[in-house]
Amino acid sequence: RQQVFKIPTGSTNFDNLLGGGVESMAVTQVFGEAGTGKTQIAHTLCVTAQLPVDGYSGGKVMYIDTEHTFRPERIRQVARRFSLDEKKVLENVLYARAYNSEQQYELLKNVGAKFHEEVGLFKLLIVDSIIALFRVDFFGRGELVHRQQKLGQMMSLLQKMSEEYNIAVFITNQISSDMKYSLLDVGLHDDAKPVGGNILAHASTTRVALKKVAGNVRIAMMYDSPELEEREEAFIITTGGIRD
Ligand code: ADP
Ligand code: MG
Repeated sequence: RQQVFKIPTGSTNFDNLLGGGVESMAVTQVFGEAGTGKTQIAHTLCVTAQLPVDGYSGGKVMYIDTEHTFRPERIRQVARRFSLDEKKVLENVLYARAYNSEQQYELLKNVGAKFHEEVGLFKLLIVDSIIALFRVDFFGRGELVHRQQKLGQMMSLLQKMSEEYNIAVFITNQISSDMKYSLLDVGLHDDAKPVGGNILAHASTTRVALKKVAGNVRIAMMYDSPELEEREEAFIITTGGIRD
C-alpha cells in the first residue's frame, strides 16, 4: 500500500498552510498575478523534493515548462542553500518544454508512461504554467467551452497520475490583475471568490492564492480546501529559493 508523503516548500510558514507540504496523490495549484513567485516556488520544490525527511525518501522531479521560465542556474542556487551537490540535483530534474496545448497534453501522457516504467523514482511533477498555452490556443469566449473540455481532460489525467504513481503534482495558474479576464481564466468573481463548476478549481485538491506585498515578501492564502483552514501565511523569495 502506497504511503502519502508531503514535500516541504523551503518555507515553514508555507508548509504549515499546506498542512506539512505539497502532498502526494493530489494536485496542488498556486495561482496569482505575474511576479507573485509561482515559478520560484516551483524551482525551490525541484530541490526540496530531493531532500529526504522523516517518512519521505526524496526523489526525482519532472518539470513541464510552458512559458520558458525554467532556469537551471536557479536550481543550482537553491541546491547550494541546502548544501547539496548542484550537478546531482540538476540531473534529478527532468525538464521538458511544451509549445502548444496539444503537445502539453501529449507530453503529460508520455510522462505517465515514464512514471510507469521507472516505478517509485519520481516524486514530483510540476507544470508551470498549466493554462498559458490554452489561453493562446483557445482564444476568446467562443472557444471557452472547448478549452474547458480540454483542460478538464488534462486535469483528470494529472489527478489520475498523482494517485496511480503516488506523486505530488504541482501546477501554476496565472491570473490577470484585470478581473474581467480572470473571470475567464480561473473562474473568479469580482469579489475574487472561486466559482463552482470551474474545471481547474474542482480538479485541484488544494489551491493557494499568492499575493505580492512589498519587495520580496509574498502572502500565500489557502482557498476553500476540504480539510485545511482558510488562512494566510507570509514567505519571502531569496536567491536560495523561498523561505520564511
Ligand atoms: P511568477 O512565476 O508568479 O510570475 P516568479 O516566480 O517568476 O513569478 O517570481 C518573480 C520574483 O522572483 C521577482 O520578484 C524576482 O525579483 C524574484 N526572483 C527571481 N530570481 C531571483 C533570485 N535569483 N533571487 C531572488 N529573487 C529572485
Ligand atoms: Mg512564472
